[in-house]
Amino acid sequence: MLDYSHDDWKSRADALSLRNQAFIDGKFVDAASGETFDCINPATGDVLAQVAACDVEDVDRAVLAARKSFDTGSWSRAAPGDRKAVLLKLADLIRENLEEMALLDSLDMGKLITDAVTVDAPGSAHFFQWYAEAIDKIYDEVAPTGPGDLALVKRVPLGVVGAVTPWNFPLDMATWKSAAALAAGNSVVLKPAEQSPLSALRLAELAAEAGLPDGVLNVVPGFGVTAGKALGLHMDVDTLAFTGSTAVGKIFMQYSGQSNLKSVWPETGGKSPNLIFADCENLDAAADMAAFGIFFNQGEVCSANSRLYIERSIKDEFVDRMVARAQGMQPGDPLDPASKMGAIVDENQTQGIMRHVEAGKKTANLATGGERVQVNGRGCFVQPTIFTDVDHDDPLARDEIFGPVLSIIPFDNEEDAVRMANDSVYGLAASVWTDNLSRAHRVSDALQAGTVSVNTVDALSAETPFGGIKQSGFGRDLSLHSLDKYTALKTTWIKYQA
Ligand code: NAD
Repeated sequence: MLDYSHDDWKSRADALSLRNQAFIDGKFVDAASGETFDCINPATGDVLAQVAACDVEDVDRAVLAARKSFDTGSWSRAAPGDRKAVLLKLADLIRENLEEMALLDSLDMGKLITDAVTVDAPGSAHFFQWYAEAIDKIYDEVAPTGPGDLALVKRVPLGVVGAVTPWNFPLDMATWKSAAALAAGNSVVLKPAEQSPLSALRLAELAAEAGLPDGVLNVVPGFGVTAGKALGLHMDVDTLAFTGSTAVGKIFMQYSGQSNLKSVWPETGGKSPNLIFADCENLDAAADMAAFGIFFNQGEVCSANSRLYIERSIKDEFVDRMVARAQGMQPGDPLDPASKMGAIVDENQTQGIMRHVEAGKKTANLATGGERVQVNGRGCFVQPTIFTDVDHDDPLARDEIFGPVLSIIPFDNEEDAVRMANDSVYGLAASVWTDNLSRAHRVSDALQAGTVSVNTVDALSAETPFGGIKQSGFGRDLSLHSLDKYTALKTTWIKYQA
């Protein structure tokens, strides 16, 4: 696959057969209303599929199917080793269908096929495998009571998990939620983002093929204000795992209060700072990773390093390095392996990015980029864009633009850098570049972020929790800690004759 040409990918894309119905109780079905919505390829503007537009009735059916499957115990009370076997099989099936899964995400939201096939799709298989392998190695507890008492503290699945996901990593976001929730024994109703539902639908089909019982994983494509809201307000959903914007994360907290007080796990926006000190010896590596940190996935990454704080003494030379890298990453056809950046997810998002860029041209210095462009005469593409001399209070440095737009801000000393980095409503991720070990620890300790990467950016693995603080939310995906969201601690106290 890595040696496929542009034409190879295009012909494989043309040959795909797309799933466009909801997946409820083990079957593909139309929305009860019969309504559909257009799923559009942002690189071309072509309609890829008309997808079932689920609403309250469909969500009700999916939650009922999930509840019934949970109550039968066919999955929820299966031995951990049996759940493991099914999820390992699913990981294998994702690998066997890697090309298709990668194509679905690339076509649906504009990401580079080279990234989808090397990062997103293999990542999904890896995360399913990781939770499969973990789940039969976790022990429950016996509390330290006295003789005559035996207190068992068990981790039990919650029941029906609602998962609502964004469009920037469609397959991986669906995976991060469902792999952990399913491994723990729950049944899941997943609502993927309306911009990119295709890979989640195929995932559900592969899960059924792997042996997941009917009703254990349901997918209800549709809009936020219909299907998403119905899931958030549902009286029979036990927990709601949400990844998306901060504004919508807050709405899900309200849904909970208006319904059954389900737990809600918001994993929301970010405006992550990248601090580069003059004592960093390898400024080339720092520039490579800083460019990756903002331009990977067209900057549509929650933890994108969109604020770059640079020590004033090296500012000019570092800006030159960044400009050179940005100019080498111009957008191209996502299916062309030679392209360095793909399409923005849709027209709406493109216009939002350009509004920030146009405003920024009046308040800061545009060092490179700054234009919307077309590829093959069409599509939603934005040049990699860098602003320098950005005022720390400018919207360029405050707002989550969620596109390939970097703001470079100079600092004079460590205290100054940390103060500005922390002066944000967000706290998802941060990066620090320094060869001074004490400074690396001191600054990492001081930065308000769920993950701090030192001499790299966006460090992430299945083994480490991912999530934020402040208005980046408080849910955690990945690692064993993610299981906390999907389980309850249950105490069983037994009296006996000692
Ligand atoms: P979004 O908040 O607009 O949508 C996310 C999901 O919520 C979608 O499925 C959408 O249909 C649904 N939704 C929207 N409005 C709703 C409503 N009123 N009621 C119920 N559901 C509703 O976010 P997006 O544009 O899809 O994704 C981009 C955002 O996601 C960015 O802010 C990004 O930082 C964030 N994100 C966070 C993480 C993380 O782990 N913290 C990871 C990826 C993306």
